[in-house]
Amino acid sequence: MSAKNVVSESLYDGYAQSFTVSEVLFEVKTGHQHLQIIDTPFMGRVMLLDGVVQTTERDEFIYHEMMVHVPLFAHPAPKRVLIIGGGDGGILREVLRHKNVEHVTQVEIDGSVIDMCKEYFPKHSNGAFDDPRANIVIADGKEFVAQCQDTFDVIISDSTDPIGPGEVLFTSDFYKDEKTCLNAGGIMVAQNGVPFMQGQEVTNTFQRLSKLYSDASFYVAPVPTYIGGLMSLAWATDNAELRKQSVEQIAERVAAAGFETRFYNAEVHVAAFALPNYVRALMK
Ligand code: SAM
Repeated sequence: MSAKNVVSESLYDGYAQSFTVSEVLFEVKTGHQHLQIIDTPFMGRVMLLDGVVQTTERDEFIYHEMMVHVPLFAHPAPKRVLIIGGGDGGILREVLRHKNVEHVTQVEIDGSVIDMCKEYFPKHSNGAFDDPRANIVIADGKEFVAQCQDTFDVIISDSTDPIGPGEVLFTSDFYKDEKTCLNAGGIMVAQNGVPFMQGQEVTNTFQRLSKLYSDASFYVAPVPTYIGGLMSLAWATDNAELRKQSVEQIAERVAAAGFETRFYNAEVHVAAFALPNYVRALMK
């Protein structure tokens, strides 16, 4: 990574993403993955894990708001939230903006990601790791859900792609154990890749979640960093009504919460469940 450009091409054969690099800020092989933090003129600071872009300063708000506010405003009274992964702190920051949330457990496999993101991406967590409602556990998310005695209203899986340490978080065994940690009527959401580029991920997740939940589907968000168009976010619950709420019902909860968002709103929430036909076709 000494040249001026860094190319992130480890995800797709023959299709890559490139950044002009102003400075390489940090680079280390942690016990789990290759962590790089670079500064770029266009996207601001960018974090890569094993050569794959994870988050950027410029567009993180789209991903984090959609991963968090869709399930937390769809659920009628979310008090306890579990985050798997999410070491940059963006998910935790957005969850803690919900004042009715009483407790959050976050399980991240790699403590170095948390430490380095606190230093190089302070606005991602914005102090959230020090919130008394947050309990941070450094562990493998799969092992955590296999042994966990706690239950949660919403579970958010903000993992890497299904290669490397994140692979286990896309398995049937993980989903099965994860469901035992979900309260009745709870919702689980998970980053599920870009369907145009990673179509098989949509099919695999759909097949695995449909066996466990009466309502397994996806919603979508356009995140520029995750190249290839819409990103899919897996959605699973046993309460199918939660996916069908009106703009008015959601808007009422958003207004009561009383905080500002840059991407998410009640109209976007409802529209996000509208899936293009090429995505629907992958749900088989
Ligand atoms: N938003 C990004 C994306 O969509 O590509 C991913 C964000 S990044 C914060 C994902 C995090 O998942 C990393 O910090 C990584 O260490 C963590 N992770 C990967 N495998 C994990 C596992 N088995 N258990 C817990 N955390 C894991």
